[in-house]
Amino acid sequence: MARYRDAVCRLCRREGAKLFLKGDRCFKPSCAIEKRGTNPPGQHGAARRKMLGGYGEQLREKQKVKRIYFILEKQFRNYFEKARSQKGVTGENLLFMLERRLDNVVYRSGFSTSRRQSRQLVNHGHVTVNGKKVDIPSFQVKAGDTVAIKENSQKNAFVDAAWQTAGGRGRPQWLTAGGKDLTVVVSGTPNRQDIDANINEQLIVELYSK
Ligand code: SF4
Repeated sequence: MARYRDAVCRLCRREGAKLFLKGDRCFKPSCAIEKRGTNPPGQHGAARRKMLGGYGEQLREKQKVKRIYFILEKQFRNYFEKARSQKGVTGENLLFMLERRLDNVVYRSGFSTSRRQSRQLVNHGHVTVNGKKVDIPSFQVKAGDTVAIKENSQKNAFVDAAWQTAGGRGRPQWLTAGGKDLTVVVSGTPNRQDIDANINEQLIVELYSK
């Protein structure tokens, strides 16, 4: 799978928003957006943003969401087509599917400090769903599932540190800490208020509807 290898903070500056790609650092004053503001990188970054019109804005919104969830174009387009075929509001359906990806749930549960880290945890077989190992980051969780870190992976220093600070980052209402450590129960389904308010999903719907 193709991977983005440049400095990830540039992606936040390119989109003019915190995308939370770097774990703990995103919550500290050393975050590049906190230090340097939201202007895009480069000498003419601010001027470029001012020139954005309808199509440019729609394109940037799609790029932003792809980058937040760490998804490539083809897969993102597939999510959109599924969202469009479902009942309800297409843009919200799209975000709900992205939220229910296993790698996102691992991040939102507090087992990691970034979605990149959570994807690694899933890929490397550290995560279980209902007691069975699942190593597919795009796996869709559903209400009633129990997501956990495998017992012999619970001593992983990164997981432990992330779990200890999870409360500070906030856990959405549809994920409830289970009775045992490093276990979370999917107690419902995401709703729009749980998802980054800084996303305008309607722009993505308009882009793909052209
Ligand atoms: Fe983005 Fe995090 Fe870098 Fe801040 S520290 S610019 S939120 S990746």
